[in-house]
Formats: sequence, C-alpha cells, structure tokens
Amino acid sequence: MIIVMKAGTPEAEIDKLSQELTTNWGLTPEKIVGRHKVVIGLVGDTVYLDPLQLREMSSWIEEVLRVERPYKRASLEYRQGEPSEVLVSTPAGNVPIGLHHPLTIVAGPCSVENEEMIVETAMRVKAAGAQFLRGGAYKPRTSPYAFQGHGESALGLLAAARKASGLGIITEVMDAADLDAIEEVADVIQIGARNMQNFSLLKKVGARNKPVLLKRGMSATIEEWLMAAEYILAAGNPDVILCERGIRAFDRQYARNTLDLSAIPVLRGLTHLPIMIDPSHGTGWAEYVPSMAMAAIAAGTDSLMIEVHPNPKKALSDGPQSLTPDQFDKLMGELAVIGKVMNRWPKPVPVLA
Ligand code: PEP
Ligand code: MN
Repeated sequence: MIIVMKAGTPEAEIDKLSQELTTNWGLTPEKIVGRHKVVIGLVGDTVYLDPLQLREMSSWIEEVLRVERPYKRASLEYRQGEPSEVLVSTPAGNVPIGLHHPLTIVAGPCSVENEEMIVETAMRVKAAGAQFLRGGAYKPRTSPYAFQGHGESALGLLAAARKASGLGIITEVMDAADLDAIEEVADVIQIGARNMQNFSLLKKVGARNKPVLLKRGMSATIEEWLMAAEYILAAGNPDVILCERGIRAFDRQYARNTLDLSAIPVLRGLTHLPIMIDPSHGTGWAEYVPSMAMAAIAAGTDSLMIEVHPNPKKALSDGPQSLTPDQFDKLMGELAVIGKVMNRWPKPVPVLA
C-alpha cells in the first residue's frame, strides 16, 4: 500500500503521519521522496487496512493506493512511475545509472587471469569510454574441473586495475563468506544468473550498502526476477540494477542463450529499477555482440555489460564471446551513433524548447 502526499506537504506533517502509522497501526512506513511528491510506502501484511480509513488521517493525503503486484518496493507504483537511479561511487567520482542518465558501459574479461591482462584490459576499455571494469574472481562454472577463478588473490588484481584506471569495479559474489573481501574492491556486487534465487545470499547483499547487479536467472520469469530484486530491497539495500543476460530457449545450436530484449520495455512498465543488458552471455559469440548491443541501446537500456579480453583465444573462460580491445574500440564507435540518437551519449543533448 502507498500513501501519496499532496505536493508541498510540510515535513512535520509527514513525520507526524509516519509516527502515527508506526505507533497506532503497528506499520513500518518508508518515506520515498519523488521529484514532485513524497510517498509513504507500507509493506507487509496490509490486506486488512482500509484505504478510506487511512485517507482520513490527514488532509495532506492525496490518495491511498494498493500495490497489487507481489513485488512492492521494486514496483513502478512504489515510486509513482518515476524510474530510480543507482549512484555508484567510483575512484573517478559518482556514476549514476538510470533512465535519465547517459548510458553506462561495463567491460572486461570473464575472469581475472593475471595482473598484466586485467590492468591492460582496464586501460583499454577506459580509453574507449567504459566507466566500469568487470572481471570474475569467483567463477560459477558448470564443470567442477573448469577454471574456478583465482579467488581472493584476483580481488587484489582488481584493486590494482581500479587504482591504475580509475574505473569502478564489478565482480561476482558466490559465497556470502567472501562478501567482506569483495566489498573492499568492488563498487558494485554482482549476483550471477545461477544465484538469482539464492535467497539467503540475496538477503545478505541486501544488508550491505553496496549497489547490487542482479543478473536474470537463465530460466527465470520476469516476475521471479523482480521478486529476487525485492529480497534485496526488502533487506534494506535500495540500489539494485537488473541485468538481462539471455534465457534458455529450445535452440542452442547457434546462440548460447536467447537474449530477451523485450525485457527492456516490459521492465519499464513494471519497475523503477535501472536496466543493464549483457549481449556477451546473451549470445555466447563475439560476432553477435555488436548487433545486440546496438539493439539494446535502441530498445532503451540504461547500461551494457560486454566481455573484453586481450587475447580471447587464450581466455580461461568465455573466450568465444569476448571481444578484443580493438573490436571493443570499434564497437564503441558504433554504439555512440545509436547512443546519440537515443540522447544517451555521452551526455544527454539538451532538449530544445
Ligand atoms: C559472468 O558475468 O561472467 C557470468 C558468469 O554471468 P552469468 O551469471 O550471467 O552467467
Ligand atoms: Mn563470462
């Protein structure tokens, strides 16, 4: 349930109402400051509440609405139809990710292999215009015999790349026991597709104040994905970015996954959370990455995640879908064309009256 306050409601009135909702009604009100209005969110067992009775509590209340969807904090209604932004602090300053901002580009290898390759990749993708370096220290691999990532020592290498390049770092957590170490270097914590419904892990990252990149599970419905985001939001962390990375369909002969670009407009109608598209895992092949990346921008994504490796043929994981730094440079030139048309590159062009 949400209580929409009239524009210009005095702060004291909102505090008084929140106080009353807590003490007399036993609720946990959450104040959400929008562009024009303040909304008070009431989550939990609200079925017994009568909106008309709540409405009577103050003449400053504009309306009381029920959020009918199973996800509440993640819903668009919860923010009155306003997309939210995730502000990530990086060595180069705060980077906002969201609909009202320029596109955010995340690039880097699947796995952090050694210092030279991660620093080289960082410098190259930064020069090409990326804001974040991605790279896995802990890798979720289908086979226990495949390269599992260098673990904690790779976090040190990411720290070196962060220092050398000034880029923000995105890296995956698989085990909550590693969170403290990951937080030391990561500016955004990634939850991978395979852990999208690892609810205890979601609660643990929800209890931290680092932004979370939540990848869509490979067979997850949009609703399951948003419910996973709800776990993080409900645990107190408001900074969640949703990343579409391809889902399982019936044909894996040519593409590794089916990149669901329709998720972009679908999510826009359901949630305020920022959106990222990962065409690398989404297709599994470097040659398909540029067209899907361009299509994602045209469809309105807020950010892209692209795997880049200095020598994809020698990569310890996901080589076939990784671009070389030269290919990434070329791609960034192509993305700029679409990005400018969409008014998302590198800064939005002021709208002429
Ligand atoms: C990755 O980002 O390297 C990764 C393992 O992604 P996903 O969880 O989408 O498979
Ligand atoms: Mn990968």
